[in-house]
Amino acid sequence: MKAEEYMARGESVLLHTYNRTPIVFDRGEGVCLYDIEGKRYLDFAAGIAVFGLGYHNPKFDAAVKEQVDKLIHTSNLYYNVPAIEAAEKLVKATGMDRVFFTNSGTEAIEGAIKTARKYAVQKDGRTDHEIIAMNHSFHGRSMGALSVTGNPHYQQDFRPLIGGVRFAEYNDLDSVLTQVTDRTCAVILEPIQGEGGIYPADAEFLRALRKLCDERDILLIFDEIQCGMGRSGKMFACQHAGVQPDVMTVAKALGNGLPIGAFLTTEKAASLVPGDHGSTYGGNPLVCAGARAVLDIFESEDILGHVCEVGAYLWDKLELLREKYPIIKEHRGKGLIQGLEFRESPAEIARAAIKRGVILITAENNVIRFVPPLIIEKEHVDEMAEVLEESIKE
Ligand SMILES: *Cc1c(COP(=O)(O)O)cnc(C)c1O
Repeated sequence: MKAEEYMARGESVLLHTYNRTPIVFDRGEGVCLYDIEGKRYLDFAAGIAVFGLGYHNPKFDAAVKEQVDKLIHTSNLYYNVPAIEAAEKLVKATGMDRVFFTNSGTEAIEGAIKTARKYAVQKDGRTDHEIIAMNHSFHGRSMGALSVTGNPHYQQDFRPLIGGVRFAEYNDLDSVLTQVTDRTCAVILEPIQGEGGIYPADAEFLRALRKLCDERDILLIFDEIQCGMGRSGKMFACQHAGVQPDVMTVAKALGNGLPIGAFLTTEKAASLVPGDHGSTYGGNPLVCAGARAVLDIFESEDILGHVCEVGAYLWDKLELLREKYPIIKEHRGKGLIQGLEFRESPAEIARAAIKRGVILITAENNVIRFVPPLIIEKEHVDEMAEVLEESIKE
């Protein structure tokens, strides 16, 4: 059957919530995807910053297959070894104390919000606590996460959202200070804004937020769902500033394609107790065997060292393009989460690159976002940069 026929069948049954690129993918290998007609695509999107270790990674695949044959699900009424071991590794990698596994990023945000509210309610018994979130942030599509997502376009048709959310300017401490009240229970932000257009937080800003939150006993929540898991060149982007949150959310690359997320808390912020929160699937043995393998591979294969090296190489390549083409306004990012901001919408450029076999995705504010698999090599960066340049010229 031809791609057109599959696409037509898809459009007749799938809810139309995406304007999909007209490609039907069939399989992946390393940093490349192949469509059902066998055409190769170099992937600089990694399924939206998910496939950190690449497609068909032998160690990861073997670990998942082994678990499929053993045990896939039991519920959280019991213990399972992959969840315990994945949690131990994640606690070590984040410097946090406790983990709750979810099925997605947005659910991790829900857990973080509930943690903050419960923490505050225990302190003063009030039920009108507020959260400060950032403009241009993205935290997910469920109602709680949507409520702290600073993008009116995503919110407008779904009101009323959860109450008590105030928005501040990213990287602007004064703006945050004007939103603090005696009811503030949390400040939530991405250490590098992803969907919003690849804006890294200033180290000073993160340190000042830490100090503010310590002084006022407010929980600091870092959403590391996109920028974490090695993408920035450190395991978590907040580690560039040496700032530790009270609550951290992780997902995307954690499962290398398996649906798993997590929120982590310090011992002090571990406010949720039996009855407060739950998930039927969350942290089941299958996805946790995947996450455990991911965290093992990070250690055994020095993924972070590789990200730093190839990330610097990508930076230099994109700088050359920025200098050469005035249509490029700014270049931002760290490691293998970088963005080029254009003076007009780069959607056509991204489309042209995909036609030439390189998958590029955009973000808000006229940005092309580069979030390839973390195992990408310099030769792939060269190939992408060449195709991007041709696409800009066109
Ligand atoms: C993708 C993303 C989310 C939502 O994750 P889902 O798994 O799509 O629910 C939340 N926060 C950030 C920073 C993200 O990039």
